[in-house]
This record gives sequence, structure tokens and C-alpha cells, in this order.
Amino acid sequence: TTAIEAKSLTKEYDNGRGCRDVSITVGKGEAFGFLGPNGAGKSTFVKMLVGLIHPSSGSGTLFGHKIGSLEAKSLIGYLPELYRYQEWLTGEEVVRLHARLCGMQRSVADKRIPQLLDEVGIGKRGRDRVKHYSKGMQQRLGLACALVNDPAIVFLDEPSSALDPIGRQEVRRILQNLKEKGVTIFLNSHLLEDVEVLCDRMALLNNGVILRHGKVSEVLNKR
Ligand code: ADP
Ligand code: ADP
Repeated sequence: TTAIEAKSLTKEYDNGRGCRDVSITVGKGEAFGFLGPNGAGKSTFVKMLVGLIHPSSGSGTLFGHKIGSLEAKSLIGYLPELYRYQEWLTGEEVVRLHARLCGMQRSVADKRIPQLLDEVGIGKRGRDRVKHYSKGMQQRLGLACALVNDPAIVFLDEPSSALDPIGRQEVRRILQNLKEKGVTIFLNSHLLEDVEVLCDRMALLNNGVILRHGKVSEVLNKR
């Protein structure tokens, strides 16, 4: 089954930047890495897939549903780059808010949220206010929010770039677990190691265009 399909997706901003003619397919349960330097167009591409910005041209589907449609959006978990949380809330309250926005019943949320907080390594610190969280903790909270509705596909925009080595390790471990559960993962990163550790296939993006794509080992050996 194809989880993600993009056909010549293009977004051109007024200044001519963006990304151009990006075509990829990602199978169900696969982890796909989108590697490229800052400004390559990775965020732009993911924002089109999750339905945040309209493509200038091209098309895409998520499990056969057109990107931007409600059906497609309901399949998605999304961790944007540098997400800001309501610092005056506790971690648990932030996740609860997300659960409500997803239309989750209270009784379901009551069961799911403690489980989820444990899964991402927040645990009892879910009772602390977000303003006391480190960057690593905030990123794990972001993951909990992205995962709250049990998404079939998770889009992660530079999930570990702002973290120290220990924080990166922790985020990688969580993503590895997700992958083992069969969740399809789309990972934006400028860190080669993130992609190497987790992903099956990848694309190398520069200046808005794909330079190479394929199996991670093949793409990286052809340097
Ligand atoms: P990446 O995620 O790989 O760092 P982005 O998708 O954020 O790359 O950006 C790709 C290019 O498009 C960059 O040159 C960036 O400055 C430009 N860009 C991003 N958003 C906009 C916007 N709203 N208007 C104009 N240019 C933008
Ligand atoms: P986000 O945090 O949503 O990824 P970005 O970091 O891409 O946001 O950019 C913040 C805002 O500035 C967005 O509205 C984005 O579209 C815009 N932007 C980013 N790069 C540029 C650019 N080079 N020129 C104009 N606007 C930009």
C-alpha cells in the first residue's frame, strides 16, 4: 500500500524560492528521510503534504486521499519545526487540549494521555508547567501531541535539530518505537545521522529540487 504519493509537487513563493517538481512515494510502514540543508525546501514540502499551504502545481495523496482534504488530514500527526506551547499549562494539559481538538472523548483521553506521556518519556513530569521544560522535553511533548490521535502517518520537521546529543538520542528512540509499531514516518532533517539511523529510503533535497533518492545506503554511497 502507498501511504504517501507526491507527483511533481511544486510551491513557488513570490520571491521564487520554495520547492520544485518533487515526486516521491512512501510505502505503508516505511520511514522516509528528507535530507537537505536549511532553506532547501523541506518544510515547504511537508506543509503541502499536511495541507497547510496549497501547491502551485502538482498533486499528492495520503493513502489515496487528496492532500488538503479532511480525510487526508485526519490520518496525520504533524510535529512542526520549533513548535511553541502554552507555557502556562502543564504538559498533560497541552496534550489534553490536543486530544479535545481531535474530537477525542474524555474517557478515551483519560486512558490514552498517561500512556502517551510515558511512551515519550515525560511520565510524571506531565504535571509540571511547560515553562519548566527543557528543549528536549518540549520536543517530546510535541511528539505526544502529534501522536495523540493514533495517526497512520507522522510528519516530523527537524525533530532533533535543536537538541543536545542526549535529547537527540531520546527522540530517535521514540521514533524507532513508532516505526516498530508500523506507523509511516516522514522525517525532515539536515542531520545525516537522523536519517541513517531511522530511515529505509530517502531523498536528498537542495535548492528546492531532489538531487537523488532511493535506499538510504545507495543514496549515501554515491557521493
Ligand atoms: P527548509 O525546511 O529546508 O529549511 P523551507 O521550506 O523552510 O526550507 O524554505 C525553502 C526556501 O523558501 C527558503 O529559501 C525560505 O527562505 C523560502 N521561504 C519559506 N517560506 C517562505 C515564504 N512564506 N515566503 C517566501 N519564501 C519563503
Ligand atoms: P514555520 O515555523 O511555520 O515553519 P517558518 O520558519 O517557515 O514558519 O517561517 C515563519 C514565517 O515566515 C512563515 O509565515 C513563513 O512562510 C515566512 N517566511 C519564511 N521564510 C521566508 C522568506 N524567505 N521570505 C518571506 N517569508 C518567509
